[in-house]
Amino acid sequence: MQKKDIDWGSLGFSYRHTDYSYFSNYKDGAWDEGTLTPDHTITLSECAGLLHYCQEVFEGLKAYTSKNGDIVCFRPDQNAERMYNSAQRLCMPPFPKERFIEAVEDVIRANAAWVPPYGSGATLYIRPYMFATGDVIGVKPALEYQFRILTTPVGPYYSGGVKPVKLKVSDYDRAAPHGTGNIKAGLNYAMSLYPSVQAHAEGYADNMYLDPQSRTYVEETGGANLLFVKEDGTLVVPQSATDSILPSVTRRSLVDVATKMLGMTVEQRPVKFSEIGDFVECGMCGTAAVISPVGEVDKDDEKIVYGMEETGPVMRKLRETLTGIQDGEIPDQFGWVHKVDCE
Ligand SMILES: *Cc1c(COP(=O)(O)O)cnc(C)c1O
Repeated sequence: MQKKDIDWGSLGFSYRHTDYSYFSNYKDGAWDEGTLTPDHTITLSECAGLLHYCQEVFEGLKAYTSKNGDIVCFRPDQNAERMYNSAQRLCMPPFPKERFIEAVEDVIRANAAWVPPYGSGATLYIRPYMFATGDVIGVKPALEYQFRILTTPVGPYYSGGVKPVKLKVSDYDRAAPHGTGNIKAGLNYAMSLYPSVQAHAEGYADNMYLDPQSRTYVEETGGANLLFVKEDGTLVVPQSATDSILPSVTRRSLVDVATKMLGMTVEQRPVKFSEIGDFVECGMCGTAAVISPVGEVDKDDEKIVYGMEETGPVMRKLRETLTGIQDGEIPDQFGWVHKVDCE
């Protein structure tokens, strides 16, 4: 297979269509068999439920080339499961989990020429999503849906090396207590755009959100979970009392890496904002960057500084270990790396 002629290392994070997308439609109570398509547009009714009552959920994962030359993706079963849960929360018919994994494999195979070579740092970003196509005018769940996967090649997250970032504690909330913060729905991002634009304009990489009920506990950022390290090396992972943290696949994988491979102690519990000044490292985690070190957190006039110079040793070790497993440089004792046969 001839790879596309692309300068992989200089790709950014923007959309560029590949050869195929995948879609399956839901109608009369059933999903159709699904198919690949070279058409990267969607024609919708002006009354589609997506456009009025925001029935949309999505996932994000990446396909890449591992050290031995295999095309792989990371824990697609976890994305299948999470999307199933997200769909149910918005009264959408969940896409069967086995079919989700097959569709991800099909679309990767069809776009194998777009999967960047090993060592380029680039990946083929896979975006499965689902939305209401059926007409609704009275408020209720639509009767018709589309499950779709688009793929787009993206460059290395850190082209100039990993650099700590600054976060700002937002005066806004990204989710409501017991709302939809724990599912991957586009509506959560609509909520966080305004504070996100503000934070960027003020020179911050992202917002740190506090729990929307008492505003005393740390939750997550707009699109990544948070991790902290105590002085004694314990990894501290915030839990939400109001169910408003997104269950990050990267975070759950890092917790397993920490306990089962690195012999670390992990505390998963509600974390008060007032205690994060006692921690020695902070990081954000998600599929895109795996871990981004956080060097400083600002709240009004208060500054909590972890260090803007370099990544702390624990975050570095966690990051190297997980990316090593993903790339096939460290044995995968968990069965997380999913090979896609692309003959
Ligand atoms: C997707 C997402 C994350 C990261 O999840 P991963 O599965 O690790 O990519 C974290 N927070 C929010 C709000 C998200 O939407």
